[in-house]
Amino acid sequence: MTEKLYDGQAELTEARVRVIEQGKDDRGQYVVLDRTNFYPEGGGQPADTGTIGEVAVTDVQTVDGEIRHYVTAEVAEEALAAIDWARRRDHMQQHAGQHLLSAVLEDGFGAKTVSFHLGEARASIDLDVAKISEATLLAAEQKANDLIRQALPITIEWVKEEEAAIRNLRKAPQVTGDIRLVTIEGVDVNPCGGTHPSTTAGIGVLKIVGTESAKGGTRLYFLCGERAERQFELLQQVSSELTRLLNAPVPQLAEAAATLLEDKTETAKEMVQLRKIMLELEASSFQSDGPFVFKQFSERPFKEVQQLAKLAAARMPGNYLLFLTTENGRVRFAVGKGTEAAGDMRKVLNALLEATNGKGGGSAEFAQGAGEMVDVEAFFKEAEEIFRKTAEQV
Ligand SMILES: [Zn+2]
Repeated sequence: MTEKLYDGQAELTEARVRVIEQGKDDRGQYVVLDRTNFYPEGGGQPADTGTIGEVAVTDVQTVDGEIRHYVTAEVAEEALAAIDWARRRDHMQQHAGQHLLSAVLEDGFGAKTVSFHLGEARASIDLDVAKISEATLLAAEQKANDLIRQALPITIEWVKEEEAAIRNLRKAPQVTGDIRLVTIEGVDVNPCGGTHPSTTAGIGVLKIVGTESAKGGTRLYFLCGERAERQFELLQQVSSELTRLLNAPVPQLAEAAATLLEDKTETAKEMVQLRKIMLELEASSFQSDGPFVFKQFSERPFKEVQQLAKLAAARMPGNYLLFLTTENGRVRFAVGKGTEAAGDMRKVLNALLEATNGKGGGSAEFAQGAGEMVDVEAFFKEAEEIFRKTAEQV
């Protein structure tokens, strides 16, 4: 049986240990120690990582009642076990922060915690209330930080099951036999096997960063300690950059961004109007000696070419139009006719699609397609014949 040093000494970073068993399971190569400062994953707290001697410990799990330290190589029989303290301290901050926040939310605001998740980037608790107001969140956060500043002792005690049953615990113990109770003085008594700082001051600071609906209740995300500091640094950087870009102080950033977006929408509307006017002007400039208006456009969106063909057809009642763009041996074309011109543009389209091995669709007045093409001049010549034949068929 491994002595759990982390139980009573949560801030013990290094310990001399002896290997009492080596083995291999589905997770990989592992060692069991006579005593350990490595916390095995459990109770919502992730496992510690670190080193035993020179060898890296990548995971720690409780399997069949023994604490297995998963290692990347063979470990000497006696060695110094060192945990990644930054990682552990982070876990302790989030974990103890959760005890505190859950207690504050339940006792002060009637929102009970039903589960806790400690993620890589942020921690979350699920609350049994469907909605929680911004004012409540702010008040709970302020209360939690007030309790953090008071540096309230966080103590550990082991009690018998019968003793635990008569204590006013935050939640029912999930183990039987001896129960480990974690008490935040005057705030909370909780059965818990995790690691915690010795006072609430060790949590550093607590910041609620968002909520969302989850499983009929509310999921609340929060950051403690250095995670909260990193978040503040990030927000500081971003707001400084935005202040510079929008030329507005932080409290007016949202307003400045909203104004900018309004301007953008207005400009986009104007652009559409201007483009329409320009296309109409261009369409009115087309002239023709005979019945055919054939044009090739380069470096223009086909959608615009189509619009142009429609506008031109409306202004040229007796004409036939074929507007096209070419790119990489492909042709995209629109065919149309004026209101007084005879013929079905679908027939013209079909013949052109056949000639180009292409695909397309449209109406009797206007159609478009795309296919393969090499020579524009030859294509126009062929199209002229097709237009004539179709017109004669009427
Ligand atoms: Zn705990």
